[in-house]
Amino acid sequence: MRFRNARSNSRLRHRLLLVVLAVAAFVVIAWVAYPPGYAAGPATTVNICGSSIDVRFEGETNGVSRADLLEWVHRAADAVCTYYGKFPVPHLRLDVRVRGGAGVHGGVTYPEGGGYINISLGADTTVAQLNDDWMLTHEMIHLAFPSVARKHHWIEEGISVYVEPIARVQAGQLSPERMWHDVVRDMPQGEPEGDDKGLDHTPTWGRTYWGGAMFCLVADVRIRQQTHNQEGLQDALRGILAAGGNITQDWDIERALAVGDKATGTTVLADLYHEMRDQPDPVDLAALWKQLGIERAANGSIQFDSSAPLADVRAAITRREAAGQSGQH
Ligand SMILES: [Zn+2]
Repeated sequence: MRFRNARSNSRLRHRLLLVVLAVAAFVVIAWVAYPPGYAAGPATTVNICGSSIDVRFEGETNGVSRADLLEWVHRAADAVCTYYGKFPVPHLRLDVRVRGGAGVHGGVTYPEGGGYINISLGADTTVAQLNDDWMLTHEMIHLAFPSVARKHHWIEEGISVYVEPIARVQAGQLSPERMWHDVVRDMPQGEPEGDDKGLDHTPTWGRTYWGGAMFCLVADVRIRQQTHNQEGLQDALRGILAAGGNITQDWDIERALAVGDKATGTTVLADLYHEMRDQPDPVDLAALWKQLGIERAANGSIQFDSSAPLADVRAAITRREAAGQSGQH
């Protein structure tokens, strides 16, 4: 998830009960809105594609060593560098806290200090769980897009949800079969439900995370169709980052999408935003998987059909792109 600025509602003053509720709400908002105190202690610096990550640990793990944890940080950063061609911010502060059950959980990314991620994992987390983790990559991807108004939160989460497995495939950390298996399984959660009013007005979990990811998927395919598969969402997102649009910057969503469109020589992002922002606009995912040549067998396994009309688009989405190759148009 990504930190949002919260604004308190000060109208609740007339009755004692409401005052109590307002105070309680304020406490909750203050707790959510401000980053927890930075972890104390010395930092270990991880250098990755020209940027530095200062990692601090709070608490001790039983099943994994500090070296294992630093390898996990390096792997997540490498996936992000692979996708974007650079790390999104020059310097990141990363606090890793040991708490809760085994596994990685509770990641939050903040713009403070040029980029700050706070993430937790259980003391009994295993190396296998670190190797399979997606959450730290998801958080680091949040660094690569400007902060937009609250009602557009879906674009921030959608990019992280959509890009995370692609970045890991491009970095050789995940197979395309496993990635598409999970995407085909999970993407329907982004479809609009009965009372949907469009992405800007339906802040449910499904529409925020998977509705945003569906926007990215449709945009990626359309950009590739319109550019003879020479450009993709990756080039648009690299263009936004190259124009300075990282998490420390507050941008209008239209500006971010226009900068992304300029990088691909299309108007796909602006057009799709106008389609999806104020109305349900469901996507025929079954037809899209068929066009992309992604077939799901009865046992759930994924087969690719290389003769499908958009098979080349599907292959290009997960193909590793050179660091400087972006915005050819
Ligand atoms: Zn997130």
